[in-house]
Amino acid sequence: MLFRDIIGQGAVKNHLIQMVKQNRISHALLFHGKGCVGKLPLALALAQYVHCENRGDEDACGVCPSCRKHLNMAHPDMHYVYPVINDKKRKTVSDSFIEEWREIHKERIYFTHSQWVDFIKTKDSVGQGMIYTDESQEIIRKLSLKTYESEYKVIVIYEASRMNITAANKLLKILEEPTDKTLFILTVDEPESLLPTIFSRCQAISVGPVDKNELFASMVKNTAYTPAQITSAVNISQGCVCRAYEFLESSEEESEKLNSFIKIMRNSYSGNVRGMIEWAEETGRLHVDEQKQLLIYFSAQLRNNLMKTLSAASLAVMTPEENDFSAKFHPFIHKGNIGFFREEIEKALLYLERNGNAPLILLDMAFTFHRFFKLPKN
Ligand SMILES: [Zn+2]
Repeated sequence: MLFRDIIGQGAVKNHLIQMVKQNRISHALLFHGKGCVGKLPLALALAQYVHCENRGDEDACGVCPSCRKHLNMAHPDMHYVYPVINDKKRKTVSDSFIEEWREIHKERIYFTHSQWVDFIKTKDSVGQGMIYTDESQEIIRKLSLKTYESEYKVIVIYEASRMNITAANKLLKILEEPTDKTLFILTVDEPESLLPTIFSRCQAISVGPVDKNELFASMVKNTAYTPAQITSAVNISQGCVCRAYEFLESSEEESEKLNSFIKIMRNSYSGNVRGMIEWAEETGRLHVDEQKQLLIYFSAQLRNNLMKTLSAASLAVMTPEENDFSAKFHPFIHKGNIGFFREEIEKALLYLERNGNAPLILLDMAFTFHRFFKLPKN
């Protein structure tokens, strides 16, 4: 990781770089700050900077053998500790999950703890991600190793507050007797979530929210979203990069659901068989859970449209886009057909649940909808 790939955080970067240059690195650093503001990326960039063989004034060189090993997350003097799950196949230590750890970093620089846990979760796994007691043995073993290539050994502990109490107490012992030329970098959201005795052994560095303008500029450069969409995302993000991205992804999902709703309603209303088949085929390719989510969404939209027909628009919870479609559509949903629509959706949900043939179930539903539009209003 290079400092320049991290969004904003200029003051923290500068502080860390000065520390290295002036040889003032304390043996345990604690990066704390709420959300995905860059604590882990900063820890990784600092480690790479410390190890770089051709350190620049503002960043590691990125090309020396040491930097290249860092970029592949395979530097022999760099150790990673992070929460893992118990999947009953592997030992509950970070190294058992190193392939996934490398993999997620190839995909993204910023991720939340729950995104990480989802990434390693299997159907047999239990737990929400924890640093288990086994890990402390590993840390002790790694401390006993000689450094291979560098002056410093670096141990990054991501989400250090997720250490179980035994592991935390063992880490405390380690921190109480600092080993020469070993740098610990812990990252946590809230420093209060650590054992106070661990906290007091570390030099705390606060990593605040990412600057809005810098987040905006980075997202404009790296995504295909419009500046207006990015502005909304940045505004609700509270300086957390993942929150901004999650907002954009969920609004994209919402608009896909709305598009699907518009498509089935238009085609069913007009009795456009080809359109209904096309809709059933493309929806049939989604995962069954997504199909079910979609039908539940349809049901909610139909209810919202009924509320508008009944002049109770205040009871309709809709986005501006949903409202736009509803303006012309709502008169077609009324007391005379709402019950049938919702019953038909319930039926389709049940069939999907039983693993029926999804495109057929959906097509059947679309055909049946066509009849409901013809029903009298009461
Ligand atoms: Zn380098």
